[in-house]
Amino acid sequence: MKKADYDLVIIGGGPAGLTAGIYASRARLNVLLLEKVAPGGQVLVSDWIENYPGFPEGTSGYDLVTKMVEQAKQFGLTIETGEVLSLDLSEAAKKIELKGKTITTLSIIIATGASPRKLGVPGEDMFIGKGVSFCATCDGPFFKDSVVAAVGGGDTAVQESNYLTKFAKKVYLIHRRDELRATKILQERAMANDKIEIMFDSVLTGIYGGLTNVEKINVKNLKTEEEKEILVDGCFIWVGTFPNTSFLKDSVKVDEYGFIIVNQSMETSAPGVFAVGDVRNTPLRQIVTAVGDAAIAAVSAEHYIENTWAFV
Ligand code: NAP
Repeated sequence: MKKADYDLVIIGGGPAGLTAGIYASRARLNVLLLEKVAPGGQVLVSDWIENYPGFPEGTSGYDLVTKMVEQAKQFGLTIETGEVLSLDLSEAAKKIELKGKTITTLSIIIATGASPRKLGVPGEDMFIGKGVSFCATCDGPFFKDSVVAAVGGGDTAVQESNYLTKFAKKVYLIHRRDELRATKILQERAMANDKIEIMFDSVLTGIYGGLTNVEKINVKNLKTEEEKEILVDGCFIWVGTFPNTSFLKDSVKVDEYGFIIVNQSMETSAPGVFAVGDVRNTPLRQIVTAVGDAAIAAVSAEHYIENTWAFV
């Protein structure tokens, strides 16, 4: 008797979801990976990855993901495009609601990642795609010999500001405190880069321009209260991320910031439902930690299926 459409459905096709797919399809589970748009996730935003083991010269996010997709497909992973609207975990065969159809599965791995946080300042939404960006790899090359602003003080803001100087002639890095949060090596590179001007104790208060492009920003110094206008051609915003969990409603427990709580097996508060990578309450959001989570979750899902379903 067929117990469900799939043994395992993986939601999300970034490095975590793809790694879970490699492990689960290699273990011969009947597994489906659902991805909203195309495999890749946030890693596609990273220009260059130099701390993922096995790549002494570094690798682009795109190349890494392309190889992961190829590897997963070799083991027979099925990847489909589809946006998950909700989960019904009330019965042992869990239901996944997609636009126009419902699928059932014995277990689920949630690998939906996290998305960039916005500032909520005037002009931010209006100029997305017209000079406001969250992705240097996607949009940096458009700013050759231009002046751009970057907001944030974490690893992303500092690393990507360095990357932007490959194109832009000047980058204003605007940070709200008097010291950067980023790791020391990234800070040192930014400080040594004469195309980067770091504006400490400062916040972006507005983005302005014409119909098709950004022309200027307003920046306020929080210590002196002085507000000034800076002419820029673009504005990159890197002030953190939030988990992509809107489809979850209250189906699994989350922490105070909305990240999914898991145990050592990567299992959530719902038996047979696992969460991996940036979407979970991890102390470190890196590819290397996400793929580690995914391997644990895939093996845990396999054990869950064996132990729970063998006698049903
Ligand atoms: P993050 O570490 O959370 O940093 C967010 C930055 O934005 C902080 O400097 C924060 O300021 C600032 N910020 C937050 N809300 C703001 C607001 N409303 N207005 C102005 N500034 C605001 O985020 P992230 O840089 O995206 O990094 C996320 C994770 O990925 C981290 O764990 C990071 O280590 C990792 N990562 C690693 C690498 C790498 O290893 N090469 C590269 C990229 C990312 P405060 O400092 O004042 O809080």
